[in-house]
Amino acid sequence: MTVYGWEDAKGDRNLECDVVIVGTGPGGAAMARVLAEGGKRVILLEEGPHQSRFQKNQANTMRYHMQEGGAMVAFGSAAVGVAAGRGVGGGSLVNSAICWRTKDHVLESWEAVLGGDKRFAPDAMLPVYAELEVPLGIIQTKEAIAGENNKLIVRGARALGLNADLLWRNTPGCVGCGACNYGCPSGGKASVDKNLIPMARAHGAIVQGDTKVERILIENGRARGVVGVVRETESGRAVGSTTVRAEKVILCAGAVGTPRLIQYAGLGDTLGDRVGKGLHLHPGNGIFGLCDTEVRMWTGATQGAYFSDPNLPNVLPHTLTLPPAALLMALGNTGEAAKRDIALAPFIAGCLVMVSDKGSGTVGVTKEGRADLKYWFADEDIVNIKAGLKRTCEVLMAGGCKKLLVPITGAGWTENINDAFAAIEGAAITDYKGLYAAHPMATCRMGTDISNSVIGPNGEAHGLKGLYIADSSIFPTSLGVNPQYTTMAMSTILGRGILADWAA
Ligand SMILES: Cc1cc2nc3c(=O)[nH]c(=O)nc-3n(C[C@H](O)[C@H](O)[C@H](O)COP(=O)(O)OP(=O)(O)OC[C@H]3O[C@@H](n4cnc5c(N)ncnc54)[C@H](O)[C@@H]3O)c2cc1C
Ligand code: SF4
Repeated sequence: MTVYGWEDAKGDRNLECDVVIVGTGPGGAAMARVLAEGGKRVILLEEGPHQSRFQKNQANTMRYHMQEGGAMVAFGSAAVGVAAGRGVGGGSLVNSAICWRTKDHVLESWEAVLGGDKRFAPDAMLPVYAELEVPLGIIQTKEAIAGENNKLIVRGARALGLNADLLWRNTPGCVGCGACNYGCPSGGKASVDKNLIPMARAHGAIVQGDTKVERILIENGRARGVVGVVRETESGRAVGSTTVRAEKVILCAGAVGTPRLIQYAGLGDTLGDRVGKGLHLHPGNGIFGLCDTEVRMWTGATQGAYFSDPNLPNVLPHTLTLPPAALLMALGNTGEAAKRDIALAPFIAGCLVMVSDKGSGTVGVTKEGRADLKYWFADEDIVNIKAGLKRTCEVLMAGGCKKLLVPITGAGWTENINDAFAAIEGAAITDYKGLYAAHPMATCRMGTDISNSVIGPNGEAHGLKGLYIADSSIFPTSLGVNPQYTTMAMSTILGRGILADWAA
């Protein structure tokens, strides 16, 4: 069965089904699988290319497989680059495949927000996580393909008595090429286009790429379908329009894409004041260590290790894996200094320090339909970033690095950890280089009423019957772990609830 693209969808087309799903990332794929297996006629529409355009090349990835050309920045207390994937598979195509289950205390904290509803309580999530583990092929990164950067992080953290290990990832066939953020050239990553989407298609689901949904149809006060503009993959030229009429409309366009679509479609008022509000990011930045033996941070499993410090529960450090071109960009030098960086590059190790944030922001939309992102750090996030960076300096040194480069404007390589600490402590948030976030979330939250949320615990919008949301925008709080696995688990639970309500 084909994934349809712009060549198949030229001109004006009208389709009908039971459920139309917008977006094919972890949320959309999990929902499609459940509903198609439950006998519903499902159509998925996806803005990104219908076929993968993977190349081991940053510019190519940004153009085809990152939303908004990889150029999203949240302005507010500082400038934070925000990344979200694009294509049939969404973020799972270009993510690092890390699979964490959300901690019980976070899931338990949602029960009150959801008016006592227990459908995402730890006991309810556990079997769904276990069920998804099989098609996703989640395994712990093997030592043989881990690579030196990951091993260095584990070695350094354990030497300091911290908890550290190689990570669990949906990469059953990983050969450790370090290119996950460009797509997986070996096919070893089990992104959702390789499991949940084919499972949905095996039960009749239709997938159409190259189609950006811009309007939501409403009839008699209910959502009744969507209209998408079909664009040629290369030129972006509009070549058609696809209208899908359906009993239910499910938005899974991601924590940027869903509020952007709702507002662009003119439904911001209908769905309430909370659309696009409460953006969390898991913001962070990278820190480098220089070794006197080769590390080659671009080899080995992408982001294949983590450590944690019980004194820093909201700090989430993972290996930083950058291909050479991205590493040179992150070092940010030109001329002679860039030549020196090329020579140093094989000896550089990296660690990314993210925080589970209390700060928050907004996703708006420009009149051209682009996301307009704002984000403000909370003071405690800045305290956590500083503490996390300092702990990571110690881990890198304990792992074998001889020099440190902290992500502060004006800082250079130093052998003296106290100099690194001083640079971190003395910096304002605007002095931090390379602030980055790949986990936008919580922008169309779940809750009990329209004053504090956009959807109810069953996924249906408070303000519009027949419209559901099932992606990373629905979390009631910051998650505290990498979000793809929880997005899939929650979408699976919501899908089963929709089927049960339908049958009732
Ligand atoms: C570089 C990177 C690394 C990451 N690493 C990890 C990791 O290791 N582990 C982890 O758990 N998470 C990771 N993440 C985050 C994770 O990928 C996301 O949280 C997850 O993909 C979110 O799923 P989603 O279904 O909410 O949305 P997305 O995956 O963003 O999918 C939304 C889809 O909708 C499409 N879309 C948007 N608007 C429209 C529209 N109007 N019409 C049609 N289609 C539309 C988009 O093109 C996209 O394909 C990473 C993300 C990135 C970018
Ligand atoms: S590290 Fe390479 S082989 Fe392994 S999953 Fe990522 S891209 Fe695929």
